[in-house]
Amino acid sequence: MRFEKLLFGTAGVPHSTAKKNNPIEGVKQIHALGLDCMQLEFAHGVRMKEEISSGLRKISYELGVPLTSHGPYYINLNAREQDKIDSSVERIIQTAKISDLCGAESMTFHAAFYMKDSPFDVFDLVEKSLNVIQERLQRLDIEIELRPELTGKTSQFGSLEELISLTKSVNTCNPCMDFSHLYARTGKFNTRQEFVEVLTVLENELGNNYTKNMHIHLSGISSNSKGDLKHLNLNDSDFNWKELLEALKEKDCRGYVICNSPNLEKDAKMMKEYYATL
Ligand SMILES: [Zn+2]
Repeated sequence: MRFEKLLFGTAGVPHSTAKKNNPIEGVKQIHALGLDCMQLEFAHGVRMKEEISSGLRKISYELGVPLTSHGPYYINLNAREQDKIDSSVERIIQTAKISDLCGAESMTFHAAFYMKDSPFDVFDLVEKSLNVIQERLQRLDIEIELRPELTGKTSQFGSLEELISLTKSVNTCNPCMDFSHLYARTGKFNTRQEFVEVLTVLENELGNNYTKNMHIHLSGISSNSKGDLKHLNLNDSDFNWKELLEALKEKDCRGYVICNSPNLEKDAKMMKEYYATL
């Protein structure tokens, strides 16, 4: 997808939607709220009736509300048992299939846990599985961007450096930049200058095109030495979201900004409104 600007939306159906378990109504509510996009959350499983996926594709196109998606939490490409790795691969492929039916073009997921293994070994395993996934999706003729997420816990695979390396070795991969997680994970990257530095690293490593086609997650966050503790509303957290938006504007970044604060659409709207003043 070619973007002209940043699009703001929610991780899942907005709270103010009358029928909260219906993503089609969610897309309508996004539109009514003046927001731009919505992420389908398959956190607890990838099931969707065909009439819902085809309905989503239709309403998303009609209202001009593009969709992204988030895979299940129980994915671990570094699981101890081979059958758990295999089922993680299947879950990612299943998420891609359903996302594609819904018309989503970018999907994110948490790739793996280190399980106390060396990060280098985990990287090799994740890379191998993602190459298999990419090949199978190509054979299925499914074009979707695989966006392993920048994760918030130090026990999870998905540091900035790991995602950059992964992107260089797996064609259809690109980082899902969760800046709140980056802050929780490292305790750094919370000023405009640091945000600009990260974006510059991404441009230098992945090319200018990357910052014109981003999938970003944002929320307030609390953390301890192990990283991400809890997602918070932006104004209840010291995460410097305004300076982040300023940096994104300065670097002319484009793409999806998905808000996963507990209050979803309130923070998404607050960010969209602030960004419009820049
Ligand atoms: Zn996530």
